[in-house]
Parts: sequence; C-alpha cells; structure tokens
Amino acid sequence: MINVIKKLKDKQGAAIIINFLKRILPSANPQETVEAELPVAEKFRIYPRSEHVISRSRISDNALKVLYRLQKEGYDAYLVGGCVRDLLLGREPKDFDVVTNADPEQIKKVFRNCRIIGRRFRLAHVHFGGEVIEVATFRGASENASDKQILDKEGRLLRDNVYGSIEEDVWRRDFTVNALYYNIKDFSVVDYVNGMDDHKAGVMKLIGDPIVRFREDPVRMLRAVRFAVKLGFNIDSQCQQPIKEMAELLGSIPSARLYDEVLKLFLFGYALQTFEMLRHYGLFQVLFPATEKSLGSEENGYPRQLLVKALQNSDNRIADGKSVTAYFLFASFLWEPVQILAKEKQAQGLPEFMAYQDAASEILSQQVRITALPRHISLAIREVWSLQPKFNSRIGSKPSRLIGHPRFRAAYDFLLLRAETGGAEAELAEWWGKYQNANENEQRKMTAPPRKSAHSKSGRRKSYRKKPTDNNAGTPP
Ligand code: ATP
Ligand code: MG
Repeated sequence: MINVIKKLKDKQGAAIIINFLKRILPSANPQETVEAELPVAEKFRIYPRSEHVISRSRISDNALKVLYRLQKEGYDAYLVGGCVRDLLLGREPKDFDVVTNADPEQIKKVFRNCRIIGRRFRLAHVHFGGEVIEVATFRGASENASDKQILDKEGRLLRDNVYGSIEEDVWRRDFTVNALYYNIKDFSVVDYVNGMDDHKAGVMKLIGDPIVRFREDPVRMLRAVRFAVKLGFNIDSQCQQPIKEMAELLGSIPSARLYDEVLKLFLFGYALQTFEMLRHYGLFQVLFPATEKSLGSEENGYPRQLLVKALQNSDNRIADGKSVTAYFLFASFLWEPVQILAKEKQAQGLPEFMAYQDAASEILSQQVRITALPRHISLAIREVWSLQPKFNSRIGSKPSRLIGHPRFRAAYDFLLLRAETGGAEAELAEWWGKYQNANENEQRKMTAPPRKSAHSKSGRRKSYRKKPTDNNAGTPP
C-alpha cells in the first residue's frame, strides 16, 4: 500500500479554532453571517486496485464513459459518494456520481448530452436515455471574500459555490464512508479521512466536528440514520449525543427538502427500523409531531400497532419488488392524530362529520408546513381516509360503486391494516375481500337486502340497520 503522509496545513488548525469559537460564541445579530474556513486535507492513503473489491464490471457503462471521456480530455475524474461506498459492500449503487476538476462550462463542452443544473452549487447532468450521470466540480475552500461559503447565525450553510481541488472537496462531504474517491486513472481508491477503516468497521462517522457539521446542515442527522439502517452500520459514538441535542434544528430546513428526505427515509425498504431509530434520536417528533403525540397517548398499543404494521407491509412490498406510495404512508402516519383531534372537536360540540373534516384539514396543513406534501398527495390521503366509513355500507348498489372508485384498492388495503390492528371488524375486511373476488351473481346475493322474516306479520320490509362495525373510523374526513 502506498501511504503518503504530509503535514496538515496551518489552515486546518486555524479552522479548528474558528469552529471552536463559533461553537462557544453564538452570533448576537440575527442578520449576521459568518464565513466558514474549511481545512484542506493533505494526508491521504491510496488503496490500489489489488487492495479493494471495486470492479469496473459493476460500474454502469455510462458512468465509465463519462469518466474515460473526462480523462481523455485531460481532466481528473473520480467516482465518489454512495456509489463507491455501496460498491465496496458488493451492493448495487442507486446512482453514480462523478467528480472532476473540470468546471461546469468545461464539462458542457465535453458532453453534448449535458445540462447544467442547480443554483446553490452548479452541477452537470449527462443524459444517456433514462440514465443520468451527475458530474460535479470539486468544491473548494474560498479564496476571495465574495465567493466564500456563507453560513447563517445558526451555522447553516446558505451558499456554497466555490470550486476547488479534491483535497478541499473531501471536507465538504458528510460521512467518511461517503468521501472515498475511485480514480479512473489507475482504478485506485483515494481516502483522505480514514473512510476505508470506518467502512470496514461499519461506522457512520461525520467528517470534522459533529456539532459544526450538523449545524451547517441538519439534514445530515437524517442521512446518518438512513445510511446506518440501510447499510447495517452504527452511528459513531461522537455523533449520537449531538443528534439527540440538535434534532430540533431540522425545523429550520425548507419543507420541500424535508419531504424529499422523508420519502428517502421511508420508501427504501427499511421503514420500520428507520422509524424506530428516528424515534430513538428524537428526530421523528420533529418530522411528525402530531404522530409522535398520538403515540404518547396510545391505548392498547393501537396507534403504534397500525403504524408498525403499515411500515412492515411497506418493507415487505418493496422486498417483493412491489411499489409503495407516499400517500399511503402519510395516511398511516396521520390517521391516529386525525381520530384524536376529531374526537376532541366532537366533545366541543361539533357534529361528527364536520369534526372529522376539520380534523383532517388541520392535521394535513400542520404536516404540510413541515414536509411540503404535494397537493395530489394530500388529496389522495383524504380519499383513503374518507372511503373508510363507506366500507360499512354493504347493501344495494353502494358496494359496486365503491369498488369502482379509483382509490378503492388503497382504501381497502387501509381497511385491512385497521382490521389487522384492531381498528375495524375483521369480519368487515373479510367480507370486502370476498366481495371483490366474487362473480356478479354472488355479488348481487351478498348485497341483497335481508329477506323478509317469515314471522313478520305486517309484511313490511325490515329496514337494514348496519351494526356499528368500526370503533375507530368515525365519519369520513
Ligand atoms: P444514496 O445515493 O445511496 O442515497 P449517497 O451517499 O450517494 O447515497 P447522495 O445524496 O447521492 O447520497 O449524495 C452523494 C454524495 O454527496 C454523498 O455521498 C456525500 O459525499 C455528498 N453529500 C450529499 N449530501 C450531503 C450533505 N447534506 N452534506 C455533505 N455532503 C453531502
Ligand atoms: Mg448517490
């Protein structure tokens, strides 16, 4: 192994002192911004091809094309981030990210099929049919004042658009295992931050001071959980306490970004474990405060059971290669808070139907402020909820109309979920399962009004009175 060690620059020492001062001296002026100095890594280790498992046969052809093309044009080109981390584990990467010393304009000249995107940091997207290879220029520590990184008073990164060298780029990355560079020149892996050792030990460790790095971008706390669960890694002990103490900072993240992160957290196949870990670190309550509150007031474990079952089902579906939807997930998270609020409103004298309508609107709009649910998602959630009481009508033409509703399938799955966790009659869910699979004749029989009683003297039709089958569905929201 080639082991190159140089002295760290004075700059790094200065940055540590500045970061320390930033931690102990919070800015008094809310408008004030501070400029961040980031260190430059000069100590690194190179793992030649013989010392790692990354084979080009596991790298997408298009990513290889991009790397070779950049190299041919005289630029440095590396794979970096999740793809290197996943390839080292023998997993198939979700996508391939390339970094280079070419700037976006230079990248654009090399590839015809290329678009420049991003404002906070400009990136190139090279398109190959359905596959997009993201090509970023190394991020740098700033040289002149106007280009410097800008942090707000909480230490959050507001602007970060300086190009630099690989030695600077590495410090911008979040976790050591996400900061390994695969060099197309000699197929080696370059490691500035002991990422290989952490990778072998299975540890998610932030680069630099965890408090400063989480403050710069609180979403890193969610990323720590997501990767720890996905990879089966532990969160480094130095990062654990800061997450618990800083979880609230997530509240300052724009709701659109948090929505995207929530989807990544819960729709990748390990939703249940993710939920437990987010709760452990106090992150869940920032993302879903109403849900967390409802878990606190759980009776007979019901809300928790419904949620756990929903998350398990979603994980099983992904394992079976089936699709899962964001709206079903959110409908499960927010169902119990709506029930609780609706009951409160009824207790205050609001009629049942109105109480559920209002509760659904309130809970959804609270949630939208935190995680910006797109409109079509909140509409779908409301539909799944509002179809629940309709399952109680089993006579006449209503069942056949319900079955034709575009959201029937999801609503039925939600009914099953409630039935499995004690929130609806099992018999009701069974009936609907049978009804769906029955032929027209059988369906007609199933929905026929009850026969006149042989003993009925009056001969009048007995009115069908549905038994209240549902102890939790209420009236449609
Ligand atoms: P995956 O794509 O499998 O979810 P990833 O690690 O590739 O995981 P991306 O969001 O694609 O995650 O980011 C690519 C790389 O960019 C990361 O590996 C990391 O090096 C860097 N990065 C992404 N987000 C951040 C962040 N919030 N702070 C610092 N570095 C980040
Ligand atoms: Mg990635």
